Amino acid sequence: MDNLDRRAFLGITGAAAGATLAGMGVKATTPRGSTSLAPGDDHRGVACISSGNGRPATAKAFEMVMAGRDPIDAVVAGVNIVESDPDDMSVGYGGLPNEEGVVQLDSCCMHGPTHKAGAVACIEDIKNPASVALLVLKRTDHVMIVGEGAKRFALAHGFEAENLLTDRARRAWLRWKENANPNDDWLDADQMDFDPNENREDAAGPIPFTYGTINCSGVNENGDLASVTTTSGLSYKIPGRVGDSPIVGAGMFVDNAVGAAGATGRGEAVIQNCGAFSIVREMENGLSPTEACLAVMKRIADRTRQKRLLNERGEPNFGVTLYALRKDGAYGSAVMRGRGQFAVTTSAGTRREACMALYE
Ligand code: ASP
Repeated sequence: MDNLDRRAFLGITGAAAGATLAGMGVKATTPRGSTSLAPGDDHRGVACISSGNGRPATAKAFEMVMAGRDPIDAVVAGVNIVESDPDDMSVGYGGLPNEEGVVQLDSCCMHGPTHKAGAVACIEDIKNPASVALLVLKRTDHVMIVGEGAKRFALAHGFEAENLLTDRARRAWLRWKENANPNDDWLDADQMDFDPNENREDAAGPIPFTYGTINCSGVNENGDLASVTTTSGLSYKIPGRVGDSPIVGAGMFVDNAVGAAGATGRGEAVIQNCGAFSIVREMENGLSPTEACLAVMKRIADRTRQKRLLNERGEPNFGVTLYALRKDGAYGSAVMRGRGQFAVTTSAGTRREACMALYE
């Protein structure tokens, strides 16, 4: 869909400042299932979608769903591929660490048919937190286990403790630490009398900084849904910080009667707006997946009030991407600004599709 369609949608529904899209008549002007802002809104049938870094995940999940596996096992197996990839610095092994150089991981998942959820937060030394979250879901009466308890729970289930800080992530963290404060005893690059790049293969360029995460949702031919989100969270975060990714209703949510949703990007904003839960509720109220993502994105934007988080036009200066998959297989995604992409696998294959942007 082109920008005109998006503007028309936003114009019809969001003309009054401060009003939410839903509050401005989307429900009245959008008969159930009748609009399609993007091709995914028209899709029906088995589908797996994820954030843009997740094509291997959606391909794997789709293959497993088609083989009759439970969608929760499928989506978790899908994101395990990305968690284990040392080159993805936003998830699992190889993820950027917290401010003390420790990789702390967050994940949650939810199973539509049973409406059960499982989550781990601030777990250390365990490569596949999504699998631990799935064990919380399957084998305990709890929803969330954090920190040392989560690690011990994983070890009890046979997971191996390993160092998740790759050399590449460690070097990135060290550069961040050295340059973070000109008044500490770590010399900033411009204060050194020696080559700051000495013995550092990847010292050139900006210091890597990531929000970055994978959310993956799947629906099978019976309309049963599951979703999972997993992340190393905000780079160089304060130790113990938990983002939206392991919070059911924020980083991910499933209602088997309606659909599944997830979020990546600035977790604080997603938590403050119950992101994934709100998307599912918007779909329940009749919005298409893309519309539901845009409506919640607009709500996040309208409720961003701290000046440091706004640009000169009064728009959020941070990134969020939202993903939605409806029970019938329709899917969509929205990004706060610019040209985001998300991953999709359907019977037509695995590809990336464009997210609808709230701001150009
Ligand atoms: N949402 C994650 C967090 O805030 C990070 C991300 O998705 O980029 O921890």
